Amino acid sequence: MLEQGAIDALRAIPVPDQGHHIDGRQSPAETGEVLDVVSPIDGARLCGLASGSAADMNRAVRSARAAFEDGRWSKTAPAHRKKVLHRLADLIERDALELTVLGVRDNGTEINMAYKAEALSAAGTFRYYAEVIDKVYGEIAPTAQNILALVHHAPVGVVGAIVPWNFPLMIGSWKIAPALAAGNSLVLKPAESASLSLLRIAALAAEAGVPDGVFNVVTGPGAVVGEALALSMDVDVLVFTGSGATGRRLLNYSAASNLKRCYLELGGKSPNIVFNDAPDLEEAARVSAAGIFRNSGQVCVAGSRLLVQQDIHDDFVSALCAHARAFRVGDPLDLKSQIGAVHSLTQLEADLGFVETAEAEGADLRTGGQRILEETGGYYMQPTVMTNVKPTDTIAQREVFGPVLAVTPFKDEDDAIRIANSTEFGLASGVWTENLGRAHRMIAAIRSGVIHVNTYGGADLTVPLGGVKQSGNGHDKSLHALDKYHDLKTAWIQL
Ligand code: ADP
Repeated sequence: MLEQGAIDALRAIPVPDQGHHIDGRQSPAETGEVLDVVSPIDGARLCGLASGSAADMNRAVRSARAAFEDGRWSKTAPAHRKKVLHRLADLIERDALELTVLGVRDNGTEINMAYKAEALSAAGTFRYYAEVIDKVYGEIAPTAQNILALVHHAPVGVVGAIVPWNFPLMIGSWKIAPALAAGNSLVLKPAESASLSLLRIAALAAEAGVPDGVFNVVTGPGAVVGEALALSMDVDVLVFTGSGATGRRLLNYSAASNLKRCYLELGGKSPNIVFNDAPDLEEAARVSAAGIFRNSGQVCVAGSRLLVQQDIHDDFVSALCAHARAFRVGDPLDLKSQIGAVHSLTQLEADLGFVETAEAEGADLRTGGQRILEETGGYYMQPTVMTNVKPTDTIAQREVFGPVLAVTPFKDEDDAIRIANSTEFGLASGVWTENLGRAHRMIAAIRSGVIHVNTYGGADLTVPLGGVKQSGNGHDKSLHALDKYHDLKTAWIQL
């Protein structure tokens, strides 16, 4: 159980200025430049963050490459890496509250959610890949008798990881844990506005016994240090979660440098489809509201398009709006809050802009649509429901990444499928129906990496997460994630 007193004590501790984590040590930006980290809780400066340059990034990549080549980690036994990564999970659990409060001060996620989805989930991810790695076997191919053909799993070398601000520890560990477990070295570029908890993870990794140079973190503007990482000739694989616009740039950087493999987890505009035969419409309304509004809609798989069958539309929307209004939005470090802050003023203004555009295009604002708690200095927004949204409207096509739900009615199954598949995205979706045949038809017809049936959100580490269409490629989580961090190497041996 989290205690308010312990949280309040931690939030009162000033955060010192942060350097990069390169070669096992904190180091300032070579230029001495510092970025201001602003807390979305109150709009106040939280600390300074090293504003890296290409030179800093190249130093980190050199350190990762040297560590990889001399084998201080890459050539250790999987059983050794397992032990170290379990130790890291222990340390994350030891410091879970501290890590969580630091992360919440940085990015504004409500603490009950952050504690589980950030610190505890990161610890679980390190344990999962620690447990997996000494159970990955190679193959002996079924060749002719005079040949022995072996298929080895080799680490790829230096992995570059660029991660976003919404769930830095959860998403970061989905990449860090399998990359390290497989024996790679890593250079991580966190989001400017969510670097603090990941810098702490790097320090804990060093304490757990991850050797210097194996896990580096370089902070600063994406367009500077992220670009340098993606353009590096010495990075073998790039893994990314973020916007489609940045994903496109990364592919260009790869083409302009060493053709490094790029795995991209991009945005979504996920349809949540409610049929009139849903088993429990009240429950569907409650879960659908949580599926868009938790973490202020700043969730890549958020069910941001609600498609409701015509004959239940009005009742369902009323029930959902009641849930939307009932959420307690406020200070994310107050245990009573259910939704915290929008992560930045820029994001808040973009969210409000989407509401304006939707109204201009003919949608109706049913609830929310306003900034609230402005007197705190922080960035808070009411859960917002827009109805009468046409499938072609901006709000039905573009990812908002805010607490804004677009509602569109549909006639029948075919209509629902057509609308659901009518965006460039294909990350997640949901279907509510009691009809088993219909559920399976929808699973087959909807183009998305994840489809929830009679629930929305949820999923654990045992299953892959990845998008289709312009939501990306490759998978985080599950055993499949290891594919990104291993090369297959064939040995063809004449006997
Ligand atoms: P979001 O909208 O979630 O902030 P971004 O794609 O802008 O998505 O950011 C995700 C991550 O990509 C962040 O760590 C950010 O710093 C980084 N990033 C942004 N621009 C670039 C770029 N040009 N090259 C490499 N990384 C970038």
